[in-house]
Amino acid sequence: MHLAKFPRIKLAHLPTPLEFLPRLSAHLGGPDIYIKRDDCTGLGSGGNKTRKLEFLMADAIDQNADIVITQGAVQSNHARQTAAAAAKLGLECNLLFENRISDPTGDYLNSGNVLLDRIYGCEPMHYPAKTDMNAAMGEHAEKLRSQGKKPYVIPGGGSNPIGALGYVNCALELVHQANEQQLRIDHVVHATGSAGTQAGLVTGLKAMNAGIPVLGIGVNAAQADQEQKVFDLAVQTADYIGAPGCVDRADVVANCDYVGDGYGIPTEGMKDALLLLARLEGILFDPVYSGKGLAGLLDLVRQGQFSSDDNIVFLHTGGSMGLFGYLEEIL
Ligand SMILES: *Cc1c(COP(=O)(O)O)cnc(C)c1O
Repeated sequence: MHLAKFPRIKLAHLPTPLEFLPRLSAHLGGPDIYIKRDDCTGLGSGGNKTRKLEFLMADAIDQNADIVITQGAVQSNHARQTAAAAAKLGLECNLLFENRISDPTGDYLNSGNVLLDRIYGCEPMHYPAKTDMNAAMGEHAEKLRSQGKKPYVIPGGGSNPIGALGYVNCALELVHQANEQQLRIDHVVHATGSAGTQAGLVTGLKAMNAGIPVLGIGVNAAQADQEQKVFDLAVQTADYIGAPGCVDRADVVANCDYVGDGYGIPTEGMKDALLLLARLEGILFDPVYSGKGLAGLLDLVRQGQFSSDDNIVFLHTGGSMGLFGYLEEIL
């Protein structure tokens, strides 16, 4: 894979560390757990969207855009990283938020990621739950064009083949690090939502024939829908990088048993996992994505789904800024 063929603007602090978690591994008494610190990508407090934005923002600039628009939930980490990237590159940024949570707290509406969006200079626009947000972005882009602006529309989560290149790149980086550290990786586990992270990782790992399986822990959709979404994007991404056909349907595996009552609604497992990692390893996770992903990993380890001599890499996708939007639910 020759990613230098694609326009890219360096926004992230890379490579992110690949670290052993000794106290968690001892606590579980099972497989050795490592962590890939994509919460430390640097830009705007970090997270997985920054890798995608390296390719998406380069495409926006190639197309002479002067404003980017994207959408997400109110506490969207993707929106926050997009706002920071736009600020850094001197582009305007409009954020469209779907109010997916009923009876949101004041913290949810104003603190955490939302506070940071405003600090980066973006005043979010709110839409009711179940709005067709892609249609809303299309209409908003049309309105901006009629005002003489040149909008670039970034899909929710930055998940399209361009954004997924960020995680093809992460696959290259991870395998290189593992080789340097002489670490045999048996599984990669991470939280999966809009699909770009898993699609990019699976495509990159398959295209280099790494033989490392990826398990996505769902935070939103049911398993069949989530796997199909990831697979469809992986197929497109493989075509885009010039490795058509490298991903099989069986390479895409999601476990959606840890969603709880729905997207962005806290679960007991998430809270326990989040507090455990904070207190054993001093690492923060988030209530919507990485905390639920971690809850899934811990539960599967306790159920004996991994062998005790496995090496597991949990990809930390970031999001801890969202904790401040969930004050009452966490403690
Ligand atoms: C967006 C996000 C994810 C999910 O990544 P996708 O590429 O949307 O599947 C996981 N964790 C965090 C913290 C995120 O913000």
